[in-house]
Amino acid sequence: MPTVLDLTNRYNVQYSAKAGRNVPTTTGKLGILPGQYTLQRDGMTGAFSLANAFGTLPGSTLAAATAATNATTLETLHFANHLHVKTDLRWRRMYHYKNRPFRFKRANGNYITQQLPSFPCHYCGIYLPEEFIEVDHRQPQASPGSAIIKVLRSINAGYTGGASVGTKAGQIADLEANNVGVLNTVDVSEYDWNVAWQAGVGFMTPRAARYTLSSQGQTFLTICCMLWGSLAVEKRCLNSIINLVPACRMCNGAQGKGSKLYAVQ
Ligand SMILES: [Zn+2]
Repeated sequence: MPTVLDLTNRYNVQYSAKAGRNVPTTTGKLGILPGQYTLQRDGMTGAFSLANAFGTLPGSTLAAATAATNATTLETLHFANHLHVKTDLRWRRMYHYKNRPFRFKRANGNYITQQLPSFPCHYCGIYLPEEFIEVDHRQPQASPGSAIIKVLRSINAGYTGGASVGTKAGQIADLEANNVGVLNTVDVSEYDWNVAWQAGVGFMTPRAARYTLSSQGQTFLTICCMLWGSLAVEKRCLNSIINLVPACRMCNGAQGKGSKLYAVQ
């Protein structure tokens, strides 16, 4: 878990990547911030900021302790393999994991009921035994930028533009502390299987300031890329517990609603 010292040491390595990073809403991918900004470290305070030949990017100053704390949260909440989240007690609580009755037809024509561990699909709500449930990246792998913005916003509201949309800070702290019993459950979306699957559901549109990084968020993203490299940063956000939801095959499929809904939540 990165400490302030880790950040400082990495910064002092001459070849560590320090080019300012951003997630342009136009591409949905992690990239270089225009303007030739690079990461700077204040020798007196240890704070990080982005600066170019014309000066410091306004609003980009970030305390090293905050950066280290938030980087630790990012690290703690991710899964090396996203499928492993199915056995995570926090995720099971948030997504309504429970034994439920399922009916099976027997050879003699009768039915039997078996209690099986199950989840509802996050999108349509159908209950399925856990083996049938897939783990969907809420913000999809094709557009890692939206996962980055979602996760950064969740761990620090100051990292995205616009007004805060209800703090998730308590939930994040409890997730990190593994306080399973107090986690709020996440309601299913209740999509109706009877409507046309592709009609009118939330395509990616730049959602105003919520879906842009603030200057401070760009500093934090730059620090993360310096620490881990940009591909690993994308993976940490895509496979974060807050970006993974249970879904049925229909909703998780390439044509399913789940994949069409990114950036809506
Ligand atoms: Zn579904």
